[in-house]
Amino acid sequence: MEKDYRPILEALDSFDNFIIAGHQEPDGDCLCSQMALSSFLKRKGKNARLVSAGPFKRPEIRSWEKFFSGTIDDNDLKGKTLGIITDCSSPDRTGSLGDQLKKIPLMVIDHHSSGEMFGDYRFVDSDSPSTTLLVQQLIESSGMELTEEEAEFIFLGFCTDTGFFRHIGSGKPDVFQAVSRLVEAGVSPNATHRVMTGGRTLGSRRLLGRILDRSRLHYEGKLLISWETLEDRKELETEDRDSDSMYQMLQSIGGVESVVIVQEESENTYSVGLRSTFDIDVGSIAKSFGGGGHRKAAGCTLTGSRNEVIQRLIDSFQLLNNS
Ligand code: 5GP
Ligand code: MN
Repeated sequence: MEKDYRPILEALDSFDNFIIAGHQEPDGDCLCSQMALSSFLKRKGKNARLVSAGPFKRPEIRSWEKFFSGTIDDNDLKGKTLGIITDCSSPDRTGSLGDQLKKIPLMVIDHHSSGEMFGDYRFVDSDSPSTTLLVQQLIESSGMELTEEEAEFIFLGFCTDTGFFRHIGSGKPDVFQAVSRLVEAGVSPNATHRVMTGGRTLGSRRLLGRILDRSRLHYEGKLLISWETLEDRKELETEDRDSDSMYQMLQSIGGVESVVIVQEESENTYSVGLRSTFDIDVGSIAKSFGGGGHRKAAGCTLTGSRNEVIQRLIDSFQLLNNS
């Protein structure tokens, strides 16, 4: 069915000021959606302010931190202001910005499969491989051409969420047509790949070695779990969050259907990343722990000792017993 972009475009036209937010601990899809939208709105003569609760842990996005404010003042909310929240399926994932965002009308632009129905205007499509592709559709349907910089942002967000096309299944010619328009606008896949994968430290690669070393299999090899600690990051002098290459390696092991990585954030608090290669819906497992995400990539935060947390995660995959 053709999407009707008019209500969203009309809403954007009816405001003068925008605060563009996303989820905490942002990734390329989130920040690039924000930056492409900000550029588009500015070209339409609007005021747009980029905000993010941070932290900016992923190396490929760190250089953009300077464009984002970490707080929203009451002064920023004066006048007719619309808050836009990208790539975020529940208001609490905006982190420390949530209380201020509650004071203004909100538009949600997102592609997550689970979450809350929030926001006054919603442009949500869980079939879209990235939130940036939704932003591309909005810009294109407004009748304006994409700038080269907007196209680069959109492509980087798309590559972040699709693992550089790896997670796209069959029957999606429209996605490739959209990407071909990005290339027409000047995108270089090679340059984007370098931005996404280059510039790492040796310590961050050694951290991947530790995670690989600690990997354990469960349910006859269908579930793989591993972990990293605060101490690891201190010793190896890295705060880089670079899980994609780790998941790629672990998901290539024959028989492994799901991969879980448990990262210590502070004493007794762990952020958990989950990936699924086939049918297991890790989004619903993450949701059962208060997190969320997609069927094949999801996350949540758990508290307790590391062994307790890992045991709870193993138990949550009981369905692998019968599959
Ligand atoms: P990652 O493992 O790359 O951090 O996250 C994978 C996916 O799960 C992303 O779409 C991300 O937004 C989502 N996700 C990760 N952690 C959480 C969480 O704590 N809550 C929710 N709702 N989603 C999460
Ligand atoms: Mn996303």
